[in-house]
Amino acid sequence: MRSLLQMTLDLFAVDASASQARGRSVPPRQPRRRSSPAPQPSYTPDLWAQSAAQDDASGVRPLSLEAEQTDLRLAAGGLFYRHPQANRQANLEGIPVAYAFRRARRRTIGFSVDAHGLSVSAPRWVPQREIEQALLEKGPWILRKLQESQQRAQQIDASRIVWREGARVPYLGRALVLALDPSQRAADPAAASPLGEDVLCLGLPLAASAEQIRDAAQAWLMRRARAWFESRLDHFAPQLGVRWSRLSLSSAATRWGSAGADGSIRLHWRLIHFSPALIDYVVVHELSHLRVMNHSPQFWETVGSVVPDYADLRRQLRDHPIAAW
Ligand SMILES: [Zn+2]
Repeated sequence: MRSLLQMTLDLFAVDASASQARGRSVPPRQPRRRSSPAPQPSYTPDLWAQSAAQDDASGVRPLSLEAEQTDLRLAAGGLFYRHPQANRQANLEGIPVAYAFRRARRRTIGFSVDAHGLSVSAPRWVPQREIEQALLEKGPWILRKLQESQQRAQQIDASRIVWREGARVPYLGRALVLALDPSQRAADPAAASPLGEDVLCLGLPLAASAEQIRDAAQAWLMRRARAWFESRLDHFAPQLGVRWSRLSLSSAATRWGSAGADGSIRLHWRLIHFSPALIDYVVVHELSHLRVMNHSPQFWETVGSVVPDYADLRRQLRDHPIAAW
């Protein structure tokens, strides 16, 4: 029976397609070629726009994990996972996985998957055969984690905005198409294009730079974010029996929102990209903290009293990549 795990001790160049690399065993003495570039998954630059357009018709949220999975599968012909510091390679269920291996002062073999790829560390006394066996046993888990992490990177890349006329910017879960019109004094609210898409007209000359376009779009989005969030806070606060005192927009790296005991609410302005339901969940979450200042069952009960499907929305928010700016 063919072993699923093929180990090589040396790096080898991955300049050819993955199909060539797959299953190829490499002579141990092949010189190291550290400078060889890591293979990049091929992305469709306007994937976000495509999925958004399709989703508009079907009523499915843009950028849902389910929608992206299909695209990843399509790209899986060239699937190859490679850690930038890879010094070993395994073949897990037919998929080459180049990983960073190191000996460490520890008791067990450790596996970790992050945005870079797979890292393996093992105690000094564990023989190579045992490490290979452990990799084989952990294969499905490793592949699942690698796929999740690549999928995430792919989503973020696919949602990268190129700032020019015609660019699509996510707004309330839909796409806004940017248009430049020097005759406009200020950006106007969206109007329908011939294709049925919403257009955001920016009062900029046609020769505007990417930075100017980004700044104008951002200023408009931030204004809209404040107005939208305030109206949702006013909508939900009476339902929860709380009062909010002040809203500030944040651009914190790790939090979507926070609430202070004085009734102040902070919300990440880029929540405005997401669907109204998702924004409502964050608004209700923070308002609920004005009643319960922790994440106890009582807190979630409070959230659920206004947003019954909060668990699903919470998951969506966690899996939601933010469009690269
Ligand atoms: Zn919270």
